[in-house]
Amino acid sequence: MRQFLRSTIGTSLLISLGLWLIGCSDFVGHGYWNIVYKNSSRAAPASIVLVSLDDAPTIGTAEEARLLDAVRRTMPRNVFFDLAVNPGSDPRGDADLARAVASYDKDLTFVVRASRLDKFTPESFKFPPKQIRGGAPLALSAWSSNFLYVVERAPYSVELEGRSYPTLSTVLAGVKPAWQSQYYPDFSVDPDRVRRVSGRDLLKGLVPPSELAGQTVIVTSLGQAATGRYFGREMVPLVMHDIAGAVALAKPLNTNLGFLPLLLLALVTLAFGSRTRQRRLKVLIYAAVVAIVLFAPAPLRQQGVILSPDLAILMLTSYGLLRLWQLRTRRIQHTSVSGLPNLLALTTSKLEVGRDVVVAVIARYEEILATLPHALHGECARQIERRLSIGSGAGEIFHSDGGHFAWTEEARPLEMQLSHLQGLRSLFSAPLQVGEHTFDTNIHFGLDRNEGLDALTRVNSALASANEAMGNGRAIELFESHRLAEAPWELSLHARIEEGLRNGDIWLAFQSQLDLRQKRVVGAEALIRWNHPTRGPIAPDAFILQAERAGRIDSLTYWVLEEAITAALELNAIGPRFQMSINLSAQMVDKADLVGNFSEIVRRRGIDPDLLTIEVTETSSVRNRPAACHNLAELRALGFRLSIDDFGTGEASLTYLADLPSDELKIDRRFVSRLLTSDRDRAIVTNTILLAHALGQTVVAEGIEDSETLARLRELGCDHAQGFFIGRPQPFEAFRGEYAKGLSRKTGVV
Ligand code: C2E
Ligand code: MG
Ligand code: MG
Repeated sequence: MRQFLRSTIGTSLLISLGLWLIGCSDFVGHGYWNIVYKNSSRAAPASIVLVSLDDAPTIGTAEEARLLDAVRRTMPRNVFFDLAVNPGSDPRGDADLARAVASYDKDLTFVVRASRLDKFTPESFKFPPKQIRGGAPLALSAWSSNFLYVVERAPYSVELEGRSYPTLSTVLAGVKPAWQSQYYPDFSVDPDRVRRVSGRDLLKGLVPPSELAGQTVIVTSLGQAATGRYFGREMVPLVMHDIAGAVALAKPLNTNLGFLPLLLLALVTLAFGSRTRQRRLKVLIYAAVVAIVLFAPAPLRQQGVILSPDLAILMLTSYGLLRLWQLRTRRIQHTSVSGLPNLLALTTSKLEVGRDVVVAVIARYEEILATLPHALHGECARQIERRLSIGSGAGEIFHSDGGHFAWTEEARPLEMQLSHLQGLRSLFSAPLQVGEHTFDTNIHFGLDRNEGLDALTRVNSALASANEAMGNGRAIELFESHRLAEAPWELSLHARIEEGLRNGDIWLAFQSQLDLRQKRVVGAEALIRWNHPTRGPIAPDAFILQAERAGRIDSLTYWVLEEAITAALELNAIGPRFQMSINLSAQMVDKADLVGNFSEIVRRRGIDPDLLTIEVTETSSVRNRPAACHNLAELRALGFRLSIDDFGTGEASLTYLADLPSDELKIDRRFVSRLLTSDRDRAIVTNTILLAHALGQTVVAEGIEDSETLARLRELGCDHAQGFFIGRPQPFEAFRGEYAKGLSRKTGVV
């Protein structure tokens, strides 16, 4: 049952029942029957004739008596007297009327109308005076209306002070009160097509008696009679409702089955349709049920079977709207070009227990797409998806436009999972063949094993790890859950950094840079340090990254600059020219106020910017590359020296070199440390030195840990050297002491 209520059909049923409870179905029912009746116009039974005196309220009992006599002479079957009787002003007329009534014996019935709709109390009925009515029978006319005061139904009989009076329609139709207490008029009867005769003409003898002979005659006043709203039409004299009621009652069946049959039909067909796989059949079934609900009640009504379509219409409408909404979300959750579900769909799904989330990113995906005609983009994605799904055995692969593919894997032991992904990677050693185009590609994986976290977090983690893997050129990156545990620490980082700067936990270390030709220390790199009172020393890479993520890198950078200037001024004061290097975070390079702040600081501190080297690393985290290049060019124009740090590790160091007018290249220690052992690394270092010199740059080799490496670098023509072998990063006091000692020896360390 709960499952049913959660299904689309169940939900739409609940919605429609809710709408029914607050009365919305009345609107639907009203609208429906109004349309149905507006478009139907049936003639009333010819056996009912209205004799109408349009000035009735002004006529007296004498004239009423004459009219009744004239009607009687035409030999009608029976007569209903539907005029107000106001005796008292004309005693002779009163007597005449009493006589005329009596002359009908029981064939004349007095009509007694309720003064208002929905009012069934004794006070609302004005019975004709006994002295005129004599023994003539009575028929009441009393109507119930809907919320818009449109006459809707009437009781078979009205109970007044212990007596039961039949209503006019039942008497006209000659039916006895049935098991149900109400009946519903057939409003398809067109009031304009009820036969009518002018009472005046009848009095003047202008109406042939055959018009009324053998018919049911209702003597009434159409001109100024009480009126009520009639479905599909405006205000109509209430006698028309009585006739429509009689027409309804004359049908063989007169049963109101309510809303249940159509609602059940809609439910059953929708349930059946939703199980059908064939699209065409499904559409056919839905069309059939809509047609039945909309078009069956009207003809059935003609047979006397009343079905209310309101609730079924509400239910079908809610179902249709829900389905549309579902289709829309489905569309949103599908990547348009490939037709595959996108990552959003995975993030909103419920991940099964015991699954790892894997995101694969295709290297150079954008480039591949750029060379393909648009029509083949989807095919390209689907080919990758096929390889992944064959290799991983995953049922569903999710894809986002940026070349990311995600799925879940059974959570195997880590070693097995990693080798499984490595195996998957080998599937991509064969080139992709899309149309006539062939591509070599590479794939990187991000893996999230943090079961228990929500899907969104896990997919994002795996995604970030995949990007990181691609950035670092690694095959697989595992998302480390301890990063999440760091969240509170990262959030309060700003306050902690401020505190660290205040109480000296954060400080600058200086690592010397040796000129290989002059064989003396000519400069130093300022490296930030943090000895946290409880966490111990925190690696700069780590907290710089955190500070960047938390947007707290600015204050740190300016503090480093100020401290490095203080050190540079002092070192320059005690010896020859001394070059001070500082590191500039990639997050800062594109900032609009960077150049202004740097120039203000050097002016205020009175240092020649030429003595300061700014080291920048190429990382993908530079958001606005043109702004970054512009800033760096301006800093250089101000006199700062520019150095490209960690050269050879970034994705596009050569591009960076081409774009940036730099003064110095720092070869990353990854290459330097293997200079003696790896031919490839030696080739890289040798050629980087040649390249740098060809571009007029100074070369710094970092990470020198032994004398052999230093000697080899000197042979290769490297200009400057930095590394533990030359000097470890140390506090300023220690650094200055050593530097001064070196100066006095007049030679460098080596
Ligand atoms: P980097 O700019 O490439 O700095 C050189 C790193 O190599 C330093 O690590 C240094 O201690 C280390 N190093 C120097 N010689 C040797 C050696 O012979 N062997 C080995 N194994 N390592 C050596 P550190 O101080 O841990 O800094 C790491 C990175 O943190 C720096 O790399 C730099 O990118 C960043 N960093 C340091 N201070 C700052 C700063 O004030 N601002 C910014 N934005 N980044 C900084
Ligand atoms: Mg550096
Ligand atoms: Mg470096």
